[in-house]
Amino acid sequence: MTGSMPLLSGAATIAGVVGAPIRHSLSPRLHGAWIAAAGLDAAYVPFGPSDGGFEALINGFRGGVVSGVNVTLPFKERALHLADHVDEAARMAGAANLLLFHGDGGVEARNTDGLGLLHAFARQAPDWRPDAGPIVVLGAGGAARGAVAALARAGATDIRVLNRTQARAEAIAALLPCKAFGWRDAGQAYAGARTVINATSAGLHGDDALPLPDRTPGDEAYAMDMVYTPLRTAFLAKAEGVGFRTVDGLDMLIGQAIPSFAALFGRPPPVELDARALLLAALSPKTGEHQ
Ligand code: NAP
Repeated sequence: MTGSMPLLSGAATIAGVVGAPIRHSLSPRLHGAWIAAAGLDAAYVPFGPSDGGFEALINGFRGGVVSGVNVTLPFKERALHLADHVDEAARMAGAANLLLFHGDGGVEARNTDGLGLLHAFARQAPDWRPDAGPIVVLGAGGAARGAVAALARAGATDIRVLNRTQARAEAIAALLPCKAFGWRDAGQAYAGARTVINATSAGLHGDDALPLPDRTPGDEAYAMDMVYTPLRTAFLAKAEGVGFRTVDGLDMLIGQAIPSFAALFGRPPPVELDARALLLAALSPKTGEHQ
């Protein structure tokens, strides 16, 4: 349990998350639990504007009415275009998952998803290194582009984007340091790969048709899935079957939320709260897949 709802004063700090649909977002639960555990005079609330209402909502926040918002699907790219200042991670990813509203009316865009990806590896695969060998990123949407940007910034030198639609992989390779492959060339993309990251949305639909190698090049090979519903996706099960160690997507969600909380509320989240256990409990009744 997260404790009782804190009472807000008129000076409370308000932040939130904007997406559509927003009903199933775990972010209000996570940030709310951190706020309660830290005893802050603050709230983190969900906003689900209509597709055409996103810009009006964000522009209404200018001037610091709220301290900032996380941004999720489908607004991450549009969030970037509304910003007056863009950090390097958001610029490289071509998307923002965090908007901060300054008192002078300015909007600052950041992207903490890449930090989330690295956090997931740090938590679940402490021996993993971005420069240990070729990394295959499956998918070529916003999440894949953000992953390539974060991996390159972390020191990866051989990143291969493998996507069903090759032209979309090539569009990323035109902007960021990686090579593009279509599914016909999956064998080539996987040659010697030490890490494979599923950044497609295929797992959301229980689709196990994503290409994977028949075996890994050695013991120290890792497969990560950004999808966390279910926590053990068909992709991770198949990867484990051919020898990969696995990393699930839940710690990526937590890892992007930690720097978001710090930016929104001016202090790091309280360490005593077990965020993963909290989210697993929240997911459990929905999917029946988790402890
Ligand atoms: P997106 O822009 O819609 O991209 C979707 C990608 O998935 C495309 O590359 C698409 O290939 C591919 N795809 C979709 N269905 C497929 C299928 N059945 N078989 C093969 N490829 C398929 O989505 P996104 O924003 O990049 O997000 C991707 C995933 O990452 C989502 O599931 C999202 O929830 C997850 N994510 C998780 C976190 C986290 O914190 N854990 C953070 C960010 C994103 P084509 O180009 O060929 O259509």
